[in-house]
Amino acid sequence: MTVRTTCPYCGVGCGVAFIDGVLRGDPVHPANFGRLCSKGAALGDTLSLPDRLTRPMIRGREASWDQALDLVASEFARTRDAHGPDSIALYVSGQFLTEDYYVANKLMKGFIGSGNIDTNSRLCMASSVAGHIRAFGEDVVPGCYEDLEEADLVVQVGSNMAWCHPVLYDRLMASREKRGTAIVAIDPRCTATAETADLHLPLASGMEVLLFNGLLVYLAETNAIDRDWIKNHVSGFDDALAAARRSAPSIEIVAAAADLAPGEVRRFYDLFTVKERVVTLYSQGVNQSFCGTDKVNAILNCHLATGRIGRAGMGPFSLTGQPNAMGGREVGGLANQLAAHMAFVPGDIDRLRRFWNAPSIASRPGYKAVDLFDAIADGRVKAVWIAATNPADTMPKAGRVREALARCPLVVVSDAWPTDTTALAHVVLPAASWGEKNGTVTNSERCISRQRAFSAPPGDARPDWWMFAEVARRMGFEKEFSYSRPADIFREHAALSAFENDGQRVFDIGALADLDDAAYDALRPMQWPCPRPGRGRTGPRLFARGGFPTPDGRARMLPLAVKAAGKRDDYPLILNTGRVRDQWHTMTRTGRVPRLMTHAPGPRLSLHPRDAVRCGIEDGGLARIDSLHGSAVLRASVDDAVRAGHVFVPMHWSDEFSSSGPVGRLVHAVTDEISGQPDLKGTKVQVTAVAETWRGLLLRRGDGNPALGETTYWSKAPIAEGFSYEMAGWTPLTELINSEQVLRNLLQVSHEAELISYSDPNRAVFRYASLIGGMLEACVFFAAPRAALPEAEKASRFLGQPVEPRNRLSLLAGLEPGAAPAGRMICACFSVEEAAICSAIRAKKMTTVAEIGAALDAGTNCGSCIPELKKLLAAEGAELRAVA
Ligand code: SF4
Repeated sequence: MTVRTTCPYCGVGCGVAFIDGVLRGDPVHPANFGRLCSKGAALGDTLSLPDRLTRPMIRGREASWDQALDLVASEFARTRDAHGPDSIALYVSGQFLTEDYYVANKLMKGFIGSGNIDTNSRLCMASSVAGHIRAFGEDVVPGCYEDLEEADLVVQVGSNMAWCHPVLYDRLMASREKRGTAIVAIDPRCTATAETADLHLPLASGMEVLLFNGLLVYLAETNAIDRDWIKNHVSGFDDALAAARRSAPSIEIVAAAADLAPGEVRRFYDLFTVKERVVTLYSQGVNQSFCGTDKVNAILNCHLATGRIGRAGMGPFSLTGQPNAMGGREVGGLANQLAAHMAFVPGDIDRLRRFWNAPSIASRPGYKAVDLFDAIADGRVKAVWIAATNPADTMPKAGRVREALARCPLVVVSDAWPTDTTALAHVVLPAASWGEKNGTVTNSERCISRQRAFSAPPGDARPDWWMFAEVARRMGFEKEFSYSRPADIFREHAALSAFENDGQRVFDIGALADLDDAAYDALRPMQWPCPRPGRGRTGPRLFARGGFPTPDGRARMLPLAVKAAGKRDDYPLILNTGRVRDQWHTMTRTGRVPRLMTHAPGPRLSLHPRDAVRCGIEDGGLARIDSLHGSAVLRASVDDAVRAGHVFVPMHWSDEFSSSGPVGRLVHAVTDEISGQPDLKGTKVQVTAVAETWRGLLLRRGDGNPALGETTYWSKAPIAEGFSYEMAGWTPLTELINSEQVLRNLLQVSHEAELISYSDPNRAVFRYASLIGGMLEACVFFAAPRAALPEAEKASRFLGQPVEPRNRLSLLAGLEPGAAPAGRMICACFSVEEAAICSAIRAKKMTTVAEIGAALDAGTNCGSCIPELKKLLAAEGAELRAVA
């Protein structure tokens, strides 16, 4: 059996083929042509993960679907009748399929009658949407992936694509090998992406508008502006240039304000000037900012001024984070949009009202994500349905979000796995997950692909569109929500895109409105717009000859002032949050796969060596980070890739995976005033050293985290037979080990367990294990701060295994022969660790990634680890040269 579907992780939207029970990259999908990154390559490991939600639950008790859906429908109706439609809200997800999104949006905006549906895509790309609408008149990405392969210069702004869009990065690197593409990375942090660039500009936080204003001035002064293009297709050039001249009159002024070397700024400007084929890629470093929309428009201004748009190898290109953020934009999943790229303007509202036959349609935008949770907190919203997302971890001021949900009279959460948000729900609805549901997604280059089911959902789990349609029907809208299958929804969505659309809206997939079920099932990846013959635009690239969807057909350049973020002396550092290579969102899937947890086994607070010295923090030591909104203790990583004055903390870890919990608890709720996107990379924080008094490693088979109190740091990772917990404390270890209750809790000791121990107080060594029926159930190893714990690594091999009585003490003493301790995983596809790669480089005097691949396979599948392989080659090469 072969089923073609798409990866559920990032906005690259790679095709995945399920062939006779094995998942691999789809060789004919135009996004990846068979490639997969480390996350995509591990999808097979996520197919039967434990802990699935399989039954509807009402206040913690199992219920039937009828009971749960009747309750949601009747409470929504009662709340609407008592308090008005704006007292209800939906908060949905870029993980949704387009069909899920369409039905949820239609229910909320069309029939409940409020704009209050927003999505976690607000946290991801709302600034790009707003920037596109301001410049082009509609939210349209003008280019396609092939442009990256045909460009002579690729500018990456706030985008660590080597880790966040790895397959696309791999395509770029492959074409660079052939055509020598120049790459400029603009990012305060020297990421894996920036390391491989020809030029890295580690600019000061928030200075992208200034840098691109300076570029616009430079382009004008070097006669690199395309005056004919502007005359025919653009308005606002003079004002935009005048504003740019006010903020960025010279390279020296730009360089000083952005804290860059003037020569490097000039080099970037020269490259942009002389290379005709330029693609500017941007993602969260641009979008997640208090001035994200202006950053987007500063980039668009430079492309519009030079006419570099919509032609092969050139154009601005927003990379979306989530697999179907683009599909959500098509159906109006953002609170300030209507379906099919329509807006809250009278003509569009009326058109949608007639198409949906929805007399109560919303007449104004709803709450954007941050405002929505504020409205829940102060009681304006009294009933909320959260679907396929985990705002209790990911929203700014996550602690306040949790308090708001705890106070809300009705919280419904639909998801596939338990999360910190499902824990706050009155009603939990079990959702079908990837591989179990059918529909479509749209990737960053506007390519619509099918997601197809290849297995049945467990228990009573159901697709999200079905849940929303069922609630709508139970609220009295039977006819309008009479869908039987995703194809019914898709046809309506496609028909709406073409309804009264004679080219005014670029988003037009009317040609797909009459697909029968078989054709929908067989639908191949296709880029929109795909309009009816003879109408509207088509093709992989847009706007090469103008024709923007604005009233006058012209794109708009905008005058942009440079805005400065406020400073606080008591919180002198800037917290930047982002992804690590092998994790996705709050780890509900990827955090359960052992091989994906080895590249970055725990949350780390990375800071520049200078700040580390000033704060008294050592590499690998503990550090406390405080903001106005929360605090956490994490292990520190002293890293000169982080800009001085900044710290970096990954976004993935939640209360389930670490005592530090979600970094969202610390993040401020400042938003871009146009897009409403939170400034997730600009929270002011302070960092202090925490004096570690002990460290430990706990291994145990059972799940459920130990209660370790406020003075212990831990982070959890799955291993083959259970879980390992890296631990450290800052009060005397005796508080832990002298309490039998604590030890029993740590080791999950039941009455039939046998408890053994080994101690050497002079070396601060204390080890305990529990066995049931002679099998090792759990063990914990304590040591002095900074001590390594290789014995614990050895013991992990015995978890769930019988241990002979004569071997038990030697197991705790670390005398049992065992495998070498595991090291940092570099290649997750072939499980190749750093130590093996380094020793091969040394032994065989390797100098290329290809040689490593030939010897160890590392880097030959997804390519996500190639930047790290290059780093190891450089480091080992330098060492060899030094020895020689
Ligand atoms: S790049 Fe990786 S995570 Fe993104 S869609 Fe492709 S395989 Fe999935």
